[in-house]
Amino acid sequence: MTDFLSTGTLPDEYRELALTVRDFANQVVAPVAAEHDAEHSFPYEVIAGMADMGLFGLPFPEEFGGMGGDYFALCLALEELGKVDQSVAITLEAGVSLGAMPIYRFGNDKQRAEWLPLLASGRALGAFGLTEPGAGSDAGGTRTTAVLDGDSWIINGSKQFITNSGTDITRLVTVTAVTGSTDGKKEISTIIVPTDTPGFTAEPAYNKVGWNASDTHPLSFDDVRVPAENLLGERGRGYANFLRILDEGRIAIAALSVGAAQGCVDESVRYAKDRQAFGRPIGANQAIAFKIARMEARAHMARTAYYDAAALMLSGKPFKKQAAIAKLVASEAAMDNARDATQIFGGYGFMNEYAVARHYRDSKILEIGEGTTEVQLMLIGRELGL
Ligand SMILES: Cc1cc2nc3c(=O)[nH]c(=O)nc-3n(C[C@H](O)[C@H](O)[C@H](O)COP(=O)(O)OP(=O)(O)OC[C@H]3O[C@@H](n4cnc5c(N)ncnc54)[C@H](O)[C@@H]3O)c2cc1C
Repeated sequence: MTDFLSTGTLPDEYRELALTVRDFANQVVAPVAAEHDAEHSFPYEVIAGMADMGLFGLPFPEEFGGMGGDYFALCLALEELGKVDQSVAITLEAGVSLGAMPIYRFGNDKQRAEWLPLLASGRALGAFGLTEPGAGSDAGGTRTTAVLDGDSWIINGSKQFITNSGTDITRLVTVTAVTGSTDGKKEISTIIVPTDTPGFTAEPAYNKVGWNASDTHPLSFDDVRVPAENLLGERGRGYANFLRILDEGRIAIAALSVGAAQGCVDESVRYAKDRQAFGRPIGANQAIAFKIARMEARAHMARTAYYDAAALMLSGKPFKKQAAIAKLVASEAAMDNARDATQIFGGYGFMNEYAVARHYRDSKILEIGEGTTEVQLMLIGRELGL
């Protein structure tokens, strides 16, 4: 069986973490993945297990209840979880990278002390509300407003497709909102909204094509009043802040995508050795073996792309282009491998309870969320001066 971790290229602490998460994924996540997918139910018991392992605190310092690891450690965990269940992996990705990370990066001492230990413990989830009905790729088109009234912000508007925003353990959503204008240009800021604030509503969950066990809702804000001190980071820096968060998030989504791509390889290798047709295993046909070889190459190349982007990020160097490249090639690798794995499984590949069928449905959103394929191409083009 293909096993990148056994090549010994990772330092011991990363390798041990990845192997621990791999065991958890195989023993705890995989057995219930098909059931939660079929029932569209949020896997609270699995998420609690991940919380016990400290996964939600991986990249945060111990003083905030974190594990004292880094963003690459988070990526390795996402890769392992993404192999067996993308819904569980995206719950971790959004919880850490979109829910807690903005508070860690841009929060003041009070906000960090109030929220980070809770979010890092995994006992509570945070969400990030950027997308709106009229503002997706063009996220600067946000229409949600926040008006300062004495010592409160009054927020009105709506968000859509927001991950982790309506679970029983969701405690906050950080939203982008227009807080004024400067020289005719919109001033966008980020504000923390605790989910028990009157006027905040997580509308009924979407009926999605995939990621069925992940939690996604439209949100509405109807005269939501929060203290002025809930402003996250500087007023007017909301746009710059979320660009930073999305740049990082793309590396995490790439890691999750590599997991999906590799999961499809592993399933296909097993099946190709086992399934007999015309008196021999289907893998004895070069047409099948070559298909799997190409899938393995895609997963490997995408992995090197996200390792590279993560290494740049952790060394404090510019990483925007590499993060976009990693997200682009890894999401495409996941979708391509899911399509090929489904073909290798024949009719069984079209049955929802099979992992490859789930990857087939789940992988499409990897080419859309946290910046579509076209947005990644725009970013890469811009970095090339085009
Ligand atoms: C399951 C799920 C979870 C999500 N979670 C979150 C979340 O937690 N928080 C959040 O804020 N958002 C979330 N999103 C939203 C997601 O990030 C957006 O859907 C995505 O950014 C695309 O925006 P859009 O859907 O408005 O598409 P649009 O921006 O309307 O794009 C439509 C199409 O046009 C293309 N396009 C747009 N502009 C250009 C251009 N200039 N050149 C070429 N092509 C272009 C796009 O690539 C796409 O193919 C989630 C979405 C889903 C489905």
